[in-house]
Amino acid sequence: MDAMKIGVVGCAGRMGRMIARCVQETEGAELAGGTEAPGSPMLGRDLGELAGLGALDLAIGDDPVLLFAHSAAVIDFTAPAVSVAHAELAAQAQSVHVIGTTGLDPEQQEAVSRAARHTAVVLAPNMSLGVTLLTALVEQVARTLDADYDIEVVEMHHRRKVDAPSGTALALGLAAAAGRAVDLDDVARRVRDGHTGARPRGEIGFATLRGGDVVGDHTVVFAAEGERLELTHKASTREVFARGAVKAALWARGKPPGLYSMKDVLGLT
Ligand code: NAD
Repeated sequence: MDAMKIGVVGCAGRMGRMIARCVQETEGAELAGGTEAPGSPMLGRDLGELAGLGALDLAIGDDPVLLFAHSAAVIDFTAPAVSVAHAELAAQAQSVHVIGTTGLDPEQQEAVSRAARHTAVVLAPNMSLGVTLLTALVEQVARTLDADYDIEVVEMHHRRKVDAPSGTALALGLAAAAGRAVDLDDVARRVRDGHTGARPRGEIGFATLRGGDVVGDHTVVFAAEGERLELTHKASTREVFARGAVKAALWARGKPPGLYSMKDVLGLT
């Protein structure tokens, strides 16, 4: 089979550069090109040089229509509104769309689902293998332990992160809620401040820490009288997300249209 041509939108971003390098270093994958935001000072620069690969003769452009037309898959770690606009282009071009962008609101998620009727879309707030397994484990533990065990999701990220709680923390909360057969919206406590009163039984709490250069730490605590179970994942390099995204693109090749997750990619569904 020919190498899969993979484009990277937001290719000059922190994740974009890493993804571009990872695509080129992965057997069976080949960089198709990259885009940046209109007006970006990165436009016209060579994508290979930017990604530390040496010149590849791929100038960074600002026309995603062209990139989607030339790519079998496009990897997208940008911003919610941008990823939604790209999802429509992926549907038109019928290219695989791997979306790592976090912070999509329900309306934006719905727009991505609509686009996924026409092409294979992998949407995952965390593309790492470890977090995908953690999510599956959290659901299993929440199913096993009853509400005597208080569930708290604690996350820490670098100081530049703009959304909170992290998309991964919310996904872990959803997994815990699914295990308990409850709706997360009915039981979530995303912030605590001031005189909160005692913790209601069955609540799923979130705590957000921000600072330094932390790539991404997540812990789910199951705390009962007399014992506490903690499941933790720590990412020490963003490469794990880039590798997961490229794996997702290769996996989705030839798959029927639909909205897929990293659980699908790893065969956990
Ligand atoms: P970043 O700000 O460094 O990169 C985003 C890039 O997108 C920027 O270079 C920006 O110029 C570009 N961009 C904005 N509008 C654009 C447009 N219209 N067309 C093309 N490019 C455009 O941010 P980052 O740290 O790389 O993170 C990006 C997103 O990925 C965030 O939502 C973050 O939370 C998410 N993320 C997800 C995972 C995961 O595993 N799913 C891991 C890390 C980060």
